[in-house]
Amino acid sequence: ASFDEMGLKEDLLRGIYNYGFEKPSAIQQRALLPIIKGRDVIAQAQSGTGKTSMIALTVCQLVDTANREVQALILSPTRELAEQTERVITVIGENINIQVHACIGGKSVGEDIRKLEHGVHVVSGTPGRVCDMIKRRSLRTRAIRVLVLVSLMISSHKSQFALHLFVQTLLKDESDEMLSRGFKDQIYDVYRYLPPELQVVLISATLPNEILEVTSKFMTDPVKILV
Ligand code: AMP
Repeated sequence: ASFDEMGLKEDLLRGIYNYGFEKPSAIQQRALLPIIKGRDVIAQAQSGTGKTSMIALTVCQLVDTANREVQALILSPTRELAEQTERVITVIGENINIQVHACIGGKSVGEDIRKLEHGVHVVSGTPGRVCDMIKRRSLRTRAIRVLVLVSLMISSHKSQFALHLFVQTLLKDESDEMLSRGFKDQIYDVYRYLPPELQVVLISATLPNEILEVTSKFMTDPVKILV
């Protein structure tokens, strides 16, 4: 399928072509349509395969820019990835006037509050700061429809670990002694504030059986795309 055949917003399509993309990458070919149709999706993608761009396309398509509420939340394991995702969304979504903000640790809290109060459609962040903003009531979760969870490459044990924590947290499995309470609580805190009718998209470089088994328990009939 080409981008033309995906039923994307006209102005978004223009952004894609302006950005220099001619056709969807392999992972975009397979994952984009089910995500746009509202399915929960588990996608395996290494870095460099177009996964950040896919996330950008996803949120640009799903968000109603006439509504200045946060409608999409992307949680990344690192600040760099959260910022990179923010940048790609800004560029690809330029023609649809999408407002995106990176909520990450180490940046000014005051600036976060100001940006969020001004109204953004998408938040791309790390769990700690996102949770902080939710608790301060600066980040309103009421209108969030889609949660994108990103994990990193195999080389990053930390992100695989983070994903593991997230999954375990949802299952309230306390058995793993290795769990760091701090991080686990942060992720759970975010999740419990989100509306029940939530589309969940999980993108990871590796998908061990263990993760596939458990994610399928909290995602609804997820489409699994394994490369
Ligand atoms: P990503 O994994 O999204 O960071 O993408 C890796 C690189 O591939 C980046 O330089 C993107 O701009 C580029 N890229 C992603 N999707 C496409 C596409 N459909 N066509 C051409 N280049 C792409």
